[in-house]
Amino acid sequence: MAKNIPYKIYLEESEMPTAWYNVRADMKNKPAPLLNPSTHQPMTAQELGAVFCDELVQQELDNDSPFIQIPQEIRDFYKMYRPSPLVRAYCLEEKLQTPAKIYYKFEGNNTSGSHKLNSAIAQAYYAKKQGLKGVTTETGAGQWGTALSMACSYLGLDCKVFMVKVSYEQKPFRREVMRTYGAQVTPSPSMTTEVGRKILAEHPGTTGSLGCAISEAVEVAVGHPGYRYVLGSVLNQVLLHQSIIGMETKIALDKYGIKPDMIIGCAGGGSNLGGLISPFMGEKLRGEADYRIIAVEPASCPSFTRGVYAYDFCDTGMVCPLAKMYTLGSGFIPAPNHAGGLRYHGMSPVLSQLYADGFMEAVSVPQTRVFEAAEQFARVEGILPAPESSHAIRVAIDEAMKCKETGEEKTIVFGLTGTGYFDMVAYEKFHDGKMDDYVPSDEELQAYFAKLPKVD
Ligand SMILES: *Cc1c(COP(=O)(O)O)cnc(C)c1O
Repeated sequence: MAKNIPYKIYLEESEMPTAWYNVRADMKNKPAPLLNPSTHQPMTAQELGAVFCDELVQQELDNDSPFIQIPQEIRDFYKMYRPSPLVRAYCLEEKLQTPAKIYYKFEGNNTSGSHKLNSAIAQAYYAKKQGLKGVTTETGAGQWGTALSMACSYLGLDCKVFMVKVSYEQKPFRREVMRTYGAQVTPSPSMTTEVGRKILAEHPGTTGSLGCAISEAVEVAVGHPGYRYVLGSVLNQVLLHQSIIGMETKIALDKYGIKPDMIIGCAGGGSNLGGLISPFMGEKLRGEADYRIIAVEPASCPSFTRGVYAYDFCDTGMVCPLAKMYTLGSGFIPAPNHAGGLRYHGMSPVLSQLYADGFMEAVSVPQTRVFEAAEQFARVEGILPAPESSHAIRVAIDEAMKCKETGEEKTIVFGLTGTGYFDMVAYEKFHDGKMDDYVPSDEELQAYFAKLPKVD
């Protein structure tokens, strides 16, 4: 039944999701619990409560409730920039001359420029509700820090951001957006924390890493009464909040009777992908439908495709709980020439378990091919994509080209997580031919695997 399908599908207010969907409820093999780094016993709610807000601890540990109500205050905030559009990429299809139908869910329509605001507002809301003074966090390229500072300023919470030093210096614009929203931004590693001083003593002149910034943010949260730490990806609670992306997508597709053949998303820590796929994965887990689900990661930071599934530290300073995940080792830092984001060493425990159980695929792509796809997309779809998002574009185009060969009219849905206006230094490298496709050797990776914590 061909209906008149709009170019961009939005939802009516009455169609908007009122609860987040928790895919763990439908997983037979639950994601492995976080472990205390010293005792190797599962983290208790009380232990987690020293670092995270109480309600978020409950969400983190809840493997059973399929739906968790979205508080009205958060739904009101979502009204500022949601629903996000599900767009039919007609111009891209035309350019590729493919019979495939390509849709993308665009999360870049807010000042943070990405999907991260979906979880930032939730985490800030629960902190506020608990009567806290503020939150601490780390940020790499700055999208998460920006999202969190927006959420905190809306709710009147203090926001302390440790920003990876190389980004702090190379991305002054993002830093200034955060300060516009009232956040206090410190380059990491810094002399303001014990772990920062230790890392600087061991590696003078280091330009920092996400893992190191996490250690500093956690130390400050634990050491200051009225503060908690918040994290923009990886954790179960973040995937839960990001399920809004997938639920809106599913409602929009169902409304017009469209059934995707494959769903593609970029994977850094796994939050946008986990959110986008969650209701589809739920159907797959319950045996109600089947979809190809594809995670795309950089060949220079290939956690799924070349990592090991093991307990590892979430941070370089080894202060955070251990998570069982596909990991490259907590000491892993992508080569300096890596420009496309998605640089975290590990992967969401939920997605790791689903991948281990064969419910999804993963591919890695070299960065010059990612930027080629980014440019191609920008020229025909009118949106300048974030380098991270462009990983998904790359594989969506590759799959559409396969359809061209076979003549199959497959329906492809991918997550366009954000815009790339603050990533022009990376685009510049690409345009100037200064981008290489360095891929870590097996020996390099082995050296990091050898340092994984021994957990039995
Ligand atoms: C942070 C970010 C990502 C990667 O994070 P995930 O947790 O893997 O989703 C992807 N795209 C954009 C635009 C981002 O800001």
